[in-house]
Amino acid sequence: MWKNLRMALLLLVLLAVALHTWLDRIATQGWQHTLWVGVFPLNGDGSALAQRYVAGLGAADFKGIEEFFAREAHRYGVSLEQPVHIELYPQGTALPPALDPGAGPLGIAWWSLRLRWFAAHAEQVPGRAPPRIRLFVLYHDPATLERAPDSHGLQKGLVGVVHVFAQAAMTGGNSIVIAHELMHTLGASDKYDLGSGAPLYPIGFADPEREPRYPQRRAEIMAGRRALSVAHFDMPSGLGEVVVGPATALEIRWKHL
Ligand SMILES: [Zn+2]
Repeated sequence: MWKNLRMALLLLVLLAVALHTWLDRIATQGWQHTLWVGVFPLNGDGSALAQRYVAGLGAADFKGIEEFFAREAHRYGVSLEQPVHIELYPQGTALPPALDPGAGPLGIAWWSLRLRWFAAHAEQVPGRAPPRIRLFVLYHDPATLERAPDSHGLQKGLVGVVHVFAQAAMTGGNSIVIAHELMHTLGASDKYDLGSGAPLYPIGFADPEREPRYPQRRAEIMAGRRALSVAHFDMPSGLGEVVVGPATALEIRWKHL
């Protein structure tokens, strides 16, 4: 009797989780209504420079991301005028839990649970509606680190942790990184070689049919970089030189088979 009850309860919980995931997908891949994405800026390294930069952030700093999503969605025939709206929330004080680079599958699962818990509390800003997707954007003083720590966007939980640089000259690159992680929360997968970082051919190329193939002028968003030659690639200066390729469009349901 108890065993059956326990089984029934477990089944109910699993059903609820599946239902929740399914509803999240409908809400984020339907493209019938503007998707609200909350950016929660944070001082990633506690530096005075990052603090000044975060304090100076405004809605205009994220307009390019909204425009990128609109431009690319329209190219795939999405009729919604504004597919994505970025809402800038006030700076938070607590940093999201960090993922240990050596974490195994269990460690990653535990971290993602803690991150979702963190996000559920952070999104409660008095007088502000909670967004559908939450992106915690950590700004770093470029002088303190050569490259930003790895960013993460999770479709399960609709939450992302994004590391960027607190420097006006890096705004274009920052926007690419934020748009990339946002794409992950929508169900897009990486399209670069995880070892070398090189864009995968053809799905990670903006113009795979181009003759000659190199150099590519633009990057595919889930590759993040454009191939200049077989062995060289770089990140474009902004989203103006980035496209959403057909494989990514399929994953986020801008395109159907
Ligand atoms: Zn990625």
